[in-house]
Amino acid sequence: GSAPPELQEKTLVLVKPDAVQRRLVGTVIQRFERRGFKLVAMKLLQADRGLLDKHYQQLQQKPFYPALLAYMTSGPLVAMVWEGYNVVRSTRAMVGDTDSAMAAAGTIRGDLSMHVSRNVVHASDSVETAQREISFWFQRDELVAWESGDRDYTY
Ligand code: ADP
Ligand code: MG
Repeated sequence: GSAPPELQEKTLVLVKPDAVQRRLVGTVIQRFERRGFKLVAMKLLQADRGLLDKHYQQLQQKPFYPALLAYMTSGPLVAMVWEGYNVVRSTRAMVGDTDSAMAAAGTIRGDLSMHVSRNVVHASDSVETAQREISFWFQRDELVAWESGDRDYTY
Protein backbone atom coordinates (compact mmCIF):
# COMPACT_ATOMS: atom_id res chain seq x y z
CA GLY A 1 0.00 0.00 0.00
CA SER A 2 1.10 3.55 -0.69
CA ALA A 3 -1.06 5.53 1.73
CA PRO A 4 0.85 8.33 3.49
CA PRO A 5 2.51 7.23 6.75
CA GLU A 6 0.12 9.22 8.97
CA LEU A 7 -2.73 7.15 7.58
CA GLN A 8 -0.94 3.87 8.28
CA GLU A 9 -1.09 3.98 12.09
CA LYS A 10 -2.41 0.66 13.35
CA THR A 11 -4.01 -0.63 16.51
CA LEU A 12 -4.99 -3.99 17.94
CA VAL A 13 -8.62 -4.51 18.90
CA LEU A 14 -9.85 -7.67 20.61
CA VAL A 15 -13.55 -8.49 20.70
CA LYS A 16 -13.44 -10.31 24.02
CA PRO A 17 -15.12 -13.68 24.75
CA ASP A 18 -18.18 -12.11 26.46
CA ALA A 19 -18.89 -10.15 23.29
CA VAL A 20 -18.53 -13.22 21.06
CA GLN A 21 -20.96 -15.09 23.35
CA ARG A 22 -23.41 -12.16 23.15
CA ARG A 23 -23.18 -12.03 19.32
CA LEU A 24 -21.73 -8.50 19.42
CA VAL A 25 -18.86 -9.07 16.98
CA GLY A 26 -20.69 -7.38 14.09
CA THR A 27 -21.78 -4.45 16.25
CA VAL A 28 -18.20 -3.76 17.30
CA ILE A 29 -16.84 -4.06 13.76
CA GLN A 30 -19.56 -1.79 12.44
CA ARG A 31 -18.58 1.04 14.80
CA PHE A 32 -15.00 1.09 13.56
CA GLU A 33 -16.04 0.78 9.93
CA ARG A 34 -18.51 3.65 10.24
CA ARG A 35 -15.80 5.85 11.76
CA GLY A 36 -13.86 5.26 8.56
CA PHE A 37 -11.07 3.03 9.80
CA LYS A 38 -9.70 0.28 7.61
CA LEU A 39 -9.73 -3.37 8.67
CA VAL A 40 -6.35 -4.88 7.77
CA ALA A 41 -6.36 -8.19 9.73
CA MET A 42 -8.92 -10.31 11.55
CA LYS A 43 -9.24 -13.79 13.03
CA LEU A 44 -11.33 -15.80 15.51
CA LEU A 45 -9.26 -17.81 17.96
CA GLN A 46 -9.15 -19.36 21.37
CA ALA A 47 -6.36 -17.51 23.21
CA ASP A 48 -4.04 -19.52 25.44
CA ARG A 49 -2.31 -18.50 28.63
CA GLY A 50 1.09 -17.95 27.01
CA LEU A 51 -0.31 -15.39 24.60
CA LEU A 52 -2.29 -13.59 27.32
CA ASP A 53 0.71 -13.50 29.67
CA LYS A 54 2.56 -11.56 26.95
CA HIS A 55 -0.42 -9.39 26.04
CA TYR A 56 -1.12 -8.47 29.68
CA GLN A 57 2.53 -8.45 30.77
CA GLN A 58 2.10 -5.35 32.93
CA LEU A 59 -0.96 -6.74 34.77
CA GLN A 60 0.41 -10.11 35.87
CA GLN A 61 0.92 -8.96 39.48
CA LYS A 62 -2.58 -7.52 39.85
CA PRO A 63 -5.00 -9.32 42.19
CA PHE A 64 -7.56 -9.65 39.39
CA TYR A 65 -5.11 -11.26 36.94
CA PRO A 66 -6.27 -14.88 37.53
CA ALA A 67 -9.88 -13.80 36.92
CA LEU A 68 -8.79 -11.85 33.85
CA LEU A 69 -7.05 -14.94 32.46
CA ALA A 70 -10.14 -17.09 33.12
CA TYR A 71 -12.33 -14.50 31.37
CA MET A 72 -10.06 -14.13 28.36
CA THR A 73 -9.77 -17.93 27.90
CA SER A 74 -13.49 -18.63 28.54
CA GLY A 75 -14.22 -18.87 24.81
CA PRO A 76 -13.10 -17.67 21.42
CA LEU A 77 -12.30 -14.03 20.81
CA VAL A 78 -11.83 -11.99 17.65
CA ALA A 79 -8.51 -10.26 17.08
CA MET A 80 -8.41 -7.40 14.59
CA VAL A 81 -6.00 -4.78 13.34
CA TRP A 82 -7.48 -1.41 12.36
CA GLU A 83 -5.60 1.25 10.43
CA GLY A 84 -6.05 4.99 9.93
CA TYR A 85 -5.36 8.53 11.06
CA ASN A 86 -4.88 8.66 14.86
CA VAL A 87 -6.48 5.24 15.07
CA VAL A 88 -4.95 4.43 18.47
CA ARG A 89 -6.35 7.50 20.23
CA SER A 90 -9.65 7.42 18.38
CA THR A 91 -10.20 3.77 19.15
CA ARG A 92 -9.52 4.29 22.86
CA ALA A 93 -12.06 7.12 22.87
CA MET A 94 -14.61 4.91 21.12
CA VAL A 95 -14.02 2.05 23.56
CA GLY A 96 -14.49 4.19 26.67
CA ASP A 97 -13.30 3.97 30.27
CA THR A 98 -11.88 0.66 31.55
CA ASP A 99 -14.49 0.67 34.31
CA SER A 100 -17.76 0.15 32.47
CA ALA A 101 -19.64 2.07 35.15
CA MET A 102 -17.58 5.15 34.28
CA ALA A 103 -17.67 4.64 30.50
CA ALA A 104 -19.63 7.39 28.76
CA ALA A 105 -22.82 6.56 26.94
CA GLY A 106 -22.02 6.37 23.24
CA THR A 107 -18.80 4.46 23.83
CA ILE A 108 -18.66 0.71 23.21
CA ARG A 109 -18.29 -0.09 26.90
CA GLY A 110 -20.74 2.63 27.93
CA ASP A 111 -23.37 1.19 25.61
CA LEU A 112 -22.67 -2.55 25.83
CA SER A 113 -21.00 -3.39 29.13
CA MET A 114 -22.00 -3.29 32.78
CA HIS A 115 -18.81 -4.40 34.55
CA VAL A 116 -15.01 -4.02 34.26
CA SER A 117 -14.57 -7.80 34.26
CA ARG A 118 -16.81 -8.20 31.16
CA ASN A 119 -15.93 -5.11 29.20
CA VAL A 120 -16.42 -6.34 25.60
CA VAL A 121 -13.26 -5.03 23.92
CA HIS A 122 -9.55 -4.40 24.18
CA ALA A 123 -7.78 -1.60 22.32
CA SER A 124 -4.06 -0.77 22.45
CA ASP A 125 -3.22 2.28 24.58
CA SER A 126 -0.33 3.79 22.55
CA VAL A 127 1.29 3.48 19.14
CA GLU A 128 4.24 1.62 20.69
CA THR A 129 1.99 -0.74 22.63
CA ALA A 130 -0.01 -1.35 19.47
CA GLN A 131 3.07 -2.39 17.49
CA ARG A 132 4.10 -4.81 20.23
CA GLU A 133 0.59 -6.22 20.71
CA ILE A 134 0.01 -6.69 16.98
CA SER A 135 3.21 -8.76 16.83
CA PHE A 136 1.88 -11.03 19.63
CA TRP A 137 -1.42 -11.74 17.87
CA PHE A 138 -0.52 -11.67 14.15
CA GLN A 139 2.19 -12.85 11.82
CA ARG A 140 3.46 -10.13 9.49
CA ASP A 141 1.89 -11.81 6.45
CA GLU A 142 -1.54 -11.82 8.10
CA LEU A 143 -1.74 -8.03 7.72
CA VAL A 144 -3.23 -7.04 4.38
CA ALA A 145 -2.30 -3.76 2.72
CA TRP A 146 -5.15 -2.51 0.53
CA GLU A 147 -6.19 0.79 -1.00
CA SER A 148 -9.46 2.56 -0.30
CA GLY A 149 -11.35 3.25 -3.54
CA ASP A 150 -12.09 6.90 -2.80
CA ARG A 151 -9.57 8.83 -0.71
CA ASP A 152 -11.83 11.90 -0.59
CA TYR A 153 -14.24 10.11 1.72
CA THR A 154 -12.29 7.33 3.40
CA TYR A 155 -8.75 6.70 4.43
P1 ADP B 1 -8.04 -1.26 29.32
O1 ADP B 1 -8.60 -2.55 28.76
O2 ADP B 1 -9.09 -0.19 29.37
O3 ADP B 1 -6.79 -0.81 28.62
P2 ADP B 1 -6.33 -2.11 31.55
O4 ADP B 1 -5.23 -2.24 30.56
O5 ADP B 1 -6.09 -1.34 32.79
O6 ADP B 1 -7.66 -1.51 30.87
O7 ADP B 1 -6.81 -3.56 32.02
C1 ADP B 1 -6.91 -4.59 31.08
C2 ADP B 1 -8.16 -5.39 31.34
O8 ADP B 1 -8.08 -6.01 32.63
C3 ADP B 1 -9.46 -4.57 31.41
O9 ADP B 1 -10.00 -4.27 30.14
C4 ADP B 1 -10.36 -5.51 32.17
O10 ADP B 1 -10.82 -6.58 31.32
C5 ADP B 1 -9.39 -6.10 33.19
N1 ADP B 1 -9.40 -5.34 34.44
C6 ADP B 1 -8.79 -4.16 34.68
N2 ADP B 1 -9.02 -3.74 35.94
C7 ADP B 1 -9.81 -4.70 36.50
C8 ADP B 1 -10.41 -4.87 37.79
N3 ADP B 1 -10.24 -3.97 38.75
N4 ADP B 1 -11.16 -5.97 37.99
C9 ADP B 1 -11.32 -6.89 37.04
N5 ADP B 1 -10.80 -6.80 35.80
C10 ADP B 1 -10.05 -5.72 35.54
MG1 MG C 1 -4.89 -1.68 28.61
